[in-house]
Amino acid sequence: MHLKIITHEKVVFDEDVDEIYSRGVDGEFGILPNHIPVMTALDIGVTKVIQSGTPRYFTTMGGVFQFKDNEGILLTTTAEDGRDIDVARAKEALERAKAHLAEHNAELDIKRAEAALARAMARLKASLNN
Ligand code: ATP
Repeated sequence: MHLKIITHEKVVFDEDVDEIYSRGVDGEFGILPNHIPVMTALDIGVTKVIQSGTPRYFTTMGGVFQFKDNEGILLTTTAEDGRDIDVARAKEALERAKAHLAEHNAELDIKRAEAALARAMARLKASLNN
């Protein structure tokens, strides 16, 4: 089966895979070849693919995953290969988000800080696994 991970800026991944694991808004899911058609909204998190027994990790920051006829398309606002993550930058973003959350801001700011925290955690998780 095949998977494309696409943002509005670029195609981040476009290869054959044996297994796909990601996190939808309803929880984690896995896709093996010949899975029935699926369409789901994605959470901020890590998408893992297995190729010939080897895992690869990508951050996928929301969006939509569609699978049909052994073709997966993951459309997301931001995606990074775990191998390309700037770990120091993600750690700084995590600390900034934590500091914002400790400040008791208006609800909009809290949501933004929570999203920034989730992105930073996804980046650290994707980079640690590589
Ligand atoms: P920061 O506060 O560090 O900018 P952010 O979560 O606000 O983090 P985004 O708005 O999600 O950043 O991403 C902006 C751009 O920077 C995207 O192209 C994204 O791929 C890239 N990017 C952000 N953080 C990292 C990182 N730690 N390593 C590599 N690329 C990153």
